[in-house]
Amino acid sequence: MEQLKEFEEIRAQIPVTEILTVVAEEAAELTHAALKLRRTMKLGNPTDETITFQKAQANLYEEIADVLCALMASGFIGEYELDTLLPGIIMHKLERWADRLKEQKQKAGELV
Ligand SMILES: [Mg+2]
Repeated sequence: MEQLKEFEEIRAQIPVTEILTVVAEEAAELTHAALKLRRTMKLGNPTDETITFQKAQANLYEEIADVLCALMASGFIGEYELDTLLPGIIMHKLERWADRLKEQKQKAGELV
């Protein structure tokens, strides 16, 4: 795959420690993009009028791609992780989140 070859070329020129710095920077940008998208959805805390919901959503996708790209360049994320490992972790986290919501709902019911 051509893309994997490019990631290998990046790794050959930049130490993985520096690539992880890029991961952290891009993750911070993803955080900012999520907060900006939230502000376009919430009344009472308006953001710059030029930043529409659609623009903020597009920026969120771009930052997700930046984080993934940097992780792939680091060598910690490859085909196996994207196709097998991460979907399994995501399913586990999703179930845990749903369980927490269920527990919260049950506790709220107990208080009534
Ligand atoms: Mg970015």
